[in-house]
Amino acid sequence: MRIEGVELRYVCLPLRTAFETSFARETDKECLLVRLFGEGLQGWGEVVAMSAPLYNEETLETCWHILRDVLIPFTLKSDWDRPEDWCRAVGHIRRNYMARAGLEAALWDLYSQCQNLSLAQLWGGTRQRVEVGISLGIENTLEDLFPQIEAGINQGYRRIKLKIKPGWDVQVLQAVRKRWPELVLQVDANSAYRLEQAEHLAELDQFDLLLIEQPLEHDDIVDHASLAGRLKTPICLDESIDSVDQCRRALDLGSAKIINIKPGRVGGYTASRAIHDHCLSRSIPCWVGGMLETGIGRLPNLALASMPNFTLPGDISASKRYFRRDLIDPEVVLEDDGRVRVPERPGVGQFLDWKALDLYTRRSEKYTG
Ligand SMILES: [Mg+2]
Repeated sequence: MRIEGVELRYVCLPLRTAFETSFARETDKECLLVRLFGEGLQGWGEVVAMSAPLYNEETLETCWHILRDVLIPFTLKSDWDRPEDWCRAVGHIRRNYMARAGLEAALWDLYSQCQNLSLAQLWGGTRQRVEVGISLGIENTLEDLFPQIEAGINQGYRRIKLKIKPGWDVQVLQAVRKRWPELVLQVDANSAYRLEQAEHLAELDQFDLLLIEQPLEHDDIVDHASLAGRLKTPICLDESIDSVDQCRRALDLGSAKIINIKPGRVGGYTASRAIHDHCLSRSIPCWVGGMLETGIGRLPNLALASMPNFTLPGDISASKRYFRRDLIDPEVVLEDDGRVRVPERPGVGQFLDWKALDLYTRRSEKYTG
């Protein structure tokens, strides 16, 4: 594949409601879009970094810089047989995973059109529809949270994930479990606790949770192993796993029994597939996490989730759960049984809602070789 030009867009979409985690409260979805021109086709990818370095060290500005000054000039210089070749070629660049994942996604989108195969076909997907759940942010009161759980259940989502932090954990879970004893429930702390709070975290064991996600520091795999010995609830790692090697180390240490895979966090779909395969070889279940992606990032995540070892519902809800208007048309929709359909045709571009895209674009630049 010869890439002749690249466009970067900074977009900002209003979220339907604010979303609060233990580290941030978001009212808009900001992201970068990467549009590649080559082989008479266009490929699209989404950069999932936030405007501030709160989830990981990257920001939309650092991603713009790395793309414009490092990755794009490099990409325009050579021919690429496959996206994996590009990944190997940029392997010497340290970290900056979200920046490279955005461009890599656009390469996969272009490559799938060149091959006339969907991403699910290219990646060995085994499902036409995937189970999904929703993630509910931290609220001020239970009265604010309960209607959202009720609505999620009524819409047919297969499991509910609650964001937790100290002060919004045991009592909330107690009330939720009392009201919904059978609900498939998991929690995500986004690194809000320390190992010294192990005893407190063990109180969550009584609520029959599917998993607890990333309770301790964002870069830790050692304390998580100590914590795992003191909890019955399985630990799932998110932030701490940024490569297949780090995944292997964490599993060797016993730090996690389940892995959340987010392409942005690990440098793209090539790395995501490697982590998926590694986990499969060790009988460790995976699920596809979410970064409030627009449809442009959500469609390839659905293809990823169709791979065989994504056995737990992913955070890939319907577009309308987060946005009044997504960047794609038709939007991602939830079917009656809590599943979402995996794209059957290659090419994100055919689904673009250009009016919405132009409405929400704040800045764009084009680069050519
Ligand atoms: Mg998480």
